[in-house]
Amino acid sequence: MDRLAIVVPCYNEEEMLPITTKELTGVLDDLIRKEKIAPNSYILYVDDGSKDATWELIEKIHKENKKVFGLKLAGNVGHQFALTAGMMQAKEDADILISIDADLQDDTLVMEDMIDKYHEGNDIVYGVRNDRKKDSFFKRTTAQMFYKILAAMGVKTVYNHADYRLMSKRAVEHFANYEEVNLYLRGIMPLIGYKTESVYYERKERIAGESKYPFSKMIALAWNGITSFSVKPINFIAVLGGIIIFLSVLAAIYAFVSYCNGTVVAGWTSLILSIWMLGGLQLFAIGVIGQYIGKIYMEVKHRPRYNVETYLTHDLK
Ligand code: UDP
Ligand code: MG
Repeated sequence: MDRLAIVVPCYNEEEMLPITTKELTGVLDDLIRKEKIAPNSYILYVDDGSKDATWELIEKIHKENKKVFGLKLAGNVGHQFALTAGMMQAKEDADILISIDADLQDDTLVMEDMIDKYHEGNDIVYGVRNDRKKDSFFKRTTAQMFYKILAAMGVKTVYNHADYRLMSKRAVEHFANYEEVNLYLRGIMPLIGYKTESVYYERKERIAGESKYPFSKMIALAWNGITSFSVKPINFIAVLGGIIIFLSVLAAIYAFVSYCNGTVVAGWTSLILSIWMLGGLQLFAIGVIGQYIGKIYMEVKHRPRYNVETYLTHDLK
């Protein structure tokens, strides 16, 4: 039977952990009883450099509960890297990995469907939200806009899928070959290949604690999603440049004709206008190109993406 590891990134989640542990242990026990997963399946909490008592709590729960493992990162590296750290650890001894947020906004009941889909031969099973009714109007519209922009930029993603998903060992092993530091997991998953499926659920509100994804982090993730996977912004600049050159030729013809007709050259307005317009455009273009150069710089450095400080485990039979 296949061994399941549920990987949970945790950042300042002391309020959630007892609730999360109770629910996830229940789901594991249920799946084990139904003989869908091996009895030595486990939960892996990844402490992403929390400032509160999250790690102490993980240690405590680990002592009491044989199914709970813990991985402590030396500092805060963000959700995407924390999750990656957990997956890299779990792929060593688990056959199936499910990633889920600590706040249990995602419905744990569909884990069973995920496992079933896995047994039907899918290597990646995406958890997809039915709708976004529970989100604020702002989060909903910005998220939808983001998915549309991504699609327009030619990036393949699964609509309304966050990082709640099942992956087989071999899918994770392949994912390990993606060594980029500008990590956007949702963009990489469709590149892995293999057979995939989706399960649908309704997303709940956070039970305790508050969102660790403020607007600034959301923007950073979205920006990463676009610039790490698409060079269309650069193409766009080239097209824009072409259009402006064409327009300036027209303007030059107009100026020449006015000159021949003897109309007085007032000049100032058009001059100032073009200086400002071109100056702005150039700055914008340089800025976008600079973003890519910045990324090349980061990738070339090839820094380790996280630093595991401790790994807690149980010798399960
Ligand atoms: N998280 C993390 N590191 C961070 C921020 C968040 O590991 O720097 C974890 C957090 O503990 C949670 C998950 O990522 O398990 C998603 O965060 P959250 O639920 O706050 O995001 P939201 O659902 O509001 O988008
Ligand atoms: Mg959440």
